[in-house]
Amino acid sequence: MQESLDAIGEALDENGKVVVTGCLGVKHDLIKSTHPKVLAITGPHDTPAVMNAVHQHLPKPHDPYTDLIGVKLTPPHYAYLKISEGCNHRCTFCIIPSMRGDLVSRPIAEVMQEAENLVKAGVKELLVISQDTSAYGVDVKYRIGFVRGRPTKTRMTELCRSLGELGAWVRLHYVYPYPHVDEVIPLMAEGRILPYLDVPFQHASPRILRLMKRPASAEKVLERIRGWRAVCPEITIRSTFIVGFPGETEAEFSQLLAFLEEAQLDRVGCFAYSPVEGAAANALPDAVPQAIKEERRARFMALQERISAAKLKAKIGRTLKVLVDEPGVGRSSADAPEIDGVVKFRGGKAGELRDVLIERADAHDLFGRLQ
Ligand code: SF4
Repeated sequence: MQESLDAIGEALDENGKVVVTGCLGVKHDLIKSTHPKVLAITGPHDTPAVMNAVHQHLPKPHDPYTDLIGVKLTPPHYAYLKISEGCNHRCTFCIIPSMRGDLVSRPIAEVMQEAENLVKAGVKELLVISQDTSAYGVDVKYRIGFVRGRPTKTRMTELCRSLGELGAWVRLHYVYPYPHVDEVIPLMAEGRILPYLDVPFQHASPRILRLMKRPASAEKVLERIRGWRAVCPEITIRSTFIVGFPGETEAEFSQLLAFLEEAQLDRVGCFAYSPVEGAAANALPDAVPQAIKEERRARFMALQERISAAKLKAKIGRTLKVLVDEPGVGRSSADAPEIDGVVKFRGGKAGELRDVLIERADAHDLFGRLQ
């Protein structure tokens, strides 16, 4: 919570015009009292309220293109595609289900229509998001909808197959390693969707995962990862982890480091556990002192940097397809916007798909030449 309030303060200092939206928006009074200058505060998933606030403070330009398809808050060549809202899990560190409720999947026909409209409007990359992408359709018992006249189940595999026919990059986020995730890996190997899987593992110690009430257990995760790589050697696996969860011992943290070493994940985010107001984990005993949490985070990230640097170095000499975000900067299949590294080069225009010969790498980014 404090981190979010600090981020609002930083944004106010930098730009002076700030609209707060998302989960934190439900803490209206706290935000208003801490930062009276914010222009508006909206709850999660309330695009109309955000846009109203934006239009109140900035004149609304007439643009027949955005007026027709709704406002996209991302650059025009990529777009987030939200396939469901809410979550059936109850991870003890998370308050999303208490704010957004249980999983509600959008009908597959509606999702596909939106995706098609976006691609027709020039979007080159669709980023599939939700709270739990692999659970898509569970709430509607995988109901059949019609996609271009074809009966299609409201289910992740079928969605990926349909999205893969649109000719845009398709990138999957927030996929839990349920068994049926294995079904989408061949689609990645065949080049229908990007060979990229964002799987939030959060920890590797079975005891900590139980305390977290995570939907998937640590058992067999390494085996699954090996299986995915055997089917699709190009796959980029991204994950996030929490260190310093209440009760985490040094031995359990070491277990996490050993997992990381073994799993050789491509991209990793790591958070030092911080209690969220209203989360069940706050009641757990044996909070880890802040200094130890930070120290563990630093050790974790040092190991990941080493893994990442080696993985990126192995790409030197290869030619990668890159989607240009702005002149000089783009992303390959291994890089999601905002959270992963980038590929840097001279030239290019936003929205172009170009080949880049990789000449150099550091721990996070690649550097090369447009072909
Ligand atoms: S962290 Fe757990 S409870 Fe929260 S949205 Fe993700 S799966 Fe659901």
